[in-house]
Amino acid sequence: MRLLILFVLIAMLASPLSNVAAQTRRQVDLLVLGGTIVTMDGTRRVLDDGAIAVANGRIVAVGPRAEIEPGYTARQKVVATGKVITPGLINGHTHVPMVLFRGLADDLDLQEWLTKYIFPAEAKNVTEDFVRVGARLGLAEMIRGGTTTYCDMYYFEDAIADETAKAGVRGVLGETIIDFPVADNKTNAEGMAYVEKFVSRWKGHDLIVPAIAPHAPYTVSEAHLRAVRAFSDRTGAPIVTHISETKRELDDSVKDKGASPVAYLERIGFLNDHVIAAHMVWPQGTDISILKRRGVGVIHNPQSNMKLAAGVAPVPKMLTEGVFVGLGTDGAASNNDLNMWEEMDTVAKLHKVFSGEPKVISAQQAFELATIRGAQALHLEKEIGSLEVGKRADILIIDRDTLNQIPLYNIYSDLVYATKASDVETVLINGRIVMRNRRLLTLNEATIKTEARALRDKIIKSLGVSAPSQ
Ligand SMILES: [Zn+2]
Repeated sequence: MRLLILFVLIAMLASPLSNVAAQTRRQVDLLVLGGTIVTMDGTRRVLDDGAIAVANGRIVAVGPRAEIEPGYTARQKVVATGKVITPGLINGHTHVPMVLFRGLADDLDLQEWLTKYIFPAEAKNVTEDFVRVGARLGLAEMIRGGTTTYCDMYYFEDAIADETAKAGVRGVLGETIIDFPVADNKTNAEGMAYVEKFVSRWKGHDLIVPAIAPHAPYTVSEAHLRAVRAFSDRTGAPIVTHISETKRELDDSVKDKGASPVAYLERIGFLNDHVIAAHMVWPQGTDISILKRRGVGVIHNPQSNMKLAAGVAPVPKMLTEGVFVGLGTDGAASNNDLNMWEEMDTVAKLHKVFSGEPKVISAQQAFELATIRGAQALHLEKEIGSLEVGKRADILIIDRDTLNQIPLYNIYSDLVYATKASDVETVLINGRIVMRNRRLLTLNEATIKTEARALRDKIIKSLGVSAPSQ
């Protein structure tokens, strides 16, 4: 009896105490526990044995595990001991369905490649169904390689947005505006009507930022470019475009408009902090200071520029002058993949060999270009690009036990020069796990492969060429 009273007393004393303890532990959706966190925050903190708490798709705490773990309970826990945790990678420029043209025509210059192969192949094959199959293939490849945000320009962008949202991937997605009839719209009026509907449908979505994408200053007239800028001013939609990709584009612009592409766009009042400009290989004179002054985001695509021999963009100079620069793959037809790890490795090495200076573009800078600087170039630095409280929970968990990473001395060197896309193990986007231990959770890989292979046969027939041996 005395024993029972003692138990009751202990229970009465203990229960309010344990309730208090439970109440002080904040309930969140997910906890990442353990591992080395590469935050990419303002001071570039790297935390050994860290932890991240995620609620409603956003990071609510990041710090040492010993501080975070006692304060939170979560329905879902991801133990990342021994792994590296980084922000998701940002592919600043691509045309995602073009994965279906991967390897269709290689080793040509841009004009020949575009006019003889890509434009005819697109004219004969691009339908909404084609775009959906290509988007799913590209999205699967991007998730596997740790890309959590991509910036796109293509046709039927509404269907791409639908596939992207279903896959749980973040996208700045631009519907193409171009001055000749294309797969989804035959006239500028049709294109502008499409983009109006597209932007109003997706605006405010958690994952999708709808954008307008005038192809380039040489394929869209001045009047139409002015209308694009007015549309962006009215709706807040970003403008995705190609600027100054080749020497020929520069020479033609000087001849026809009396100015470089950047100076011409500045003259017509097109440039501002909503513009995301791919390539920028040939800026002239005061172009770089114009880009800085207007807050234009520039996306560098080293592998595509190398493959098409477009030239080498002056990235070190743009960085020194404070231009927002990010990194992209461009479409897979000119790369030929959507692999940001290769792009980081290439950007660091290309600028060393081009300048003859091995200190140019350090490993840390290359990793910045694919994360926080990429976010700045997409004008999304308040939302993504680093692991900080308040930002979206776009997080990679990377295996560091693979042979190619052993032994490890410097985290940025390891990430940029040694880590492979296949080392990415688990991917979270907006707090949702889209790949766990290398298994895709939002896409069916077997179906994607079958559908893409079926389209290959159709593309070959449409071009009237015999099927090459595989
Ligand atoms: Zn492009």
